[in-house]
Amino acid sequence: MSQALVYTLRSILGARYVLDQPEELMAYECDACTLIQKKPDIVALPKTPEEVAQVVQACIQAGVPYTARGAGTGLSGGALPMQGGVQIGLNRLSRIVAIDVPNRTATVEVGVINASLNTALKPYGLFYAPDPSSQSACTLGGNIAENAGGIHCIKYGVTTDHVLALQMVLPDGSLTWIGSQNRRSHGPNLVGLMVGSEGTLGIITQAIVKITPVPEKVRVYLAAFDSVADAGGTVARIIRSGLVPSALEFMDAFTVTAVNQAFQVGFPEDAEAVLLIELDGPAAQVLQDEKKLLSILEDHRVSQVRTGETEAERLALWKARKATVAAYGRYAPAFYLNDTVIPRSQLVNLLEKIYAVAERYEVIICNVFHAGDGNLHPHVLFDPDIPDQVRRAMQAGEEILQACLAVGGALSGEHGIGIEKSELMPLQFSPESLEKMRQLKRTVDPLGLCNPEKIFPMRTACGEARHAISPALLTGEGLWI
Ligand SMILES: Cc1cc2nc3c(=O)[nH]c(=O)nc-3n(C[C@H](O)[C@H](O)[C@H](O)COP(=O)(O)OP(=O)(O)OC[C@H]3O[C@@H](n4cnc5c(N)ncnc54)[C@H](O)[C@@H]3O)c2cc1C
Repeated sequence: MSQALVYTLRSILGARYVLDQPEELMAYECDACTLIQKKPDIVALPKTPEEVAQVVQACIQAGVPYTARGAGTGLSGGALPMQGGVQIGLNRLSRIVAIDVPNRTATVEVGVINASLNTALKPYGLFYAPDPSSQSACTLGGNIAENAGGIHCIKYGVTTDHVLALQMVLPDGSLTWIGSQNRRSHGPNLVGLMVGSEGTLGIITQAIVKITPVPEKVRVYLAAFDSVADAGGTVARIIRSGLVPSALEFMDAFTVTAVNQAFQVGFPEDAEAVLLIELDGPAAQVLQDEKKLLSILEDHRVSQVRTGETEAERLALWKARKATVAAYGRYAPAFYLNDTVIPRSQLVNLLEKIYAVAERYEVIICNVFHAGDGNLHPHVLFDPDIPDQVRRAMQAGEEILQACLAVGGALSGEHGIGIEKSELMPLQFSPESLEKMRQLKRTVDPLGLCNPEKIFPMRTACGEARHAISPALLTGEGLWI
């Protein structure tokens, strides 16, 4: 990498905020995907949107690729600089610029951590609804780039439903606002295009997001079942009934034991499956919905129901859900986390397939997921030091993905395509659709320097999907953990 670029970046940001030493770059070589590593040549840490624009302009001038990075909690390798170059870390853009209470909007820089925005909103009785389980670490920029979901998205919608306007550095180096702070605007929905584009169409520097009043009443129910089929049937019935819970999450027996052992939360270990269901809204409405919910649970042979009403009780129940991934660490040093969406009526069918795959490949697959959205998250546990285990885990993951697609599912529910699933895109999209996506990318980013090699399969010929997971992963080559 040219020293001249390092000098230019240092003249823009100051020496301290441009990293190029191997030991400094190591911290940026992976995200939470755990499967792939790629070190940048340089890390640039701008403080303002204008500095981000200057960094991008310097990259364009030098013909060097650049990749945005938030907190690096992404699960599809999106923030990895696959062609090297400059990684632009956005954590220093961490100002909450304005909270507009009357208009219920907040203007934020993209390095603001999701949970920090909610802490700032609490005194106003407001909250920002999209709440990924990683919310104590992930940035709003990363959430917007991935169109993040979360526990409460079944009722409140995913990130794209909450973004009104974006300030962006486009791949020509210009800094511009798109969208409108008003809740309605006309013309093509450019904000909608950018949300979920995984940093491939520009770098977001600020956002105006919707904020929502905290509901009058919130109640969480832990419902335990003796069979996965009863729990899955309950989910389908809740959705069919028209009840709109503010959360509807599934945990299997392995997961319940894991969180109990890690966090002593006292979840019922004799259960085969547990649902965490939340109702919120005006008090009278919650009481009415509760009656409907309890009757559905009874119909599906619920074995135990616990309720959390005070904030402390609710947080205790949700803490276990949000920390499950950490609890799995007690069983294996690594996991391959699949993220797919299926029609909710297929839940039981797919869970049965997942357990059959686990048996066939002799791997542990544990399930905790956003059941209300049909967003599955089978975690395949493995030890990266045992090549045969790696191979079996990856193949099991691939088979699950194929099974989900076969019932009309989608490649990703919320973790994005990134590098992990880009080669699988032809399984879901026609050659024509893929070519339109590539054309769009080329139009917005003709130089191809903005987060290259993500989302759009570049190496695989149209319609010729090879592996769900890159062949390098199937052989264990490139694993970093
Ligand atoms: C334990 C755990 C639980 C998780 N739970 C959930 C969950 O419930 N729901 C969910 O949706 N996800 C979840 N995730 C995945 C992850 O946290 C989200 O994808 C999150 O949105 C990533 O944010 P980040 O700041 O870490 O982004 P990064 O990982 O740094 O980047 C992610 C992608 O966004 C791009 N990007 C980052 N910032 C910008 C920017 N300012 N402009 C343009 N592009 C940018 C990057 O280039 C990359 O492609 C979880 C992850 C972990 C580890």
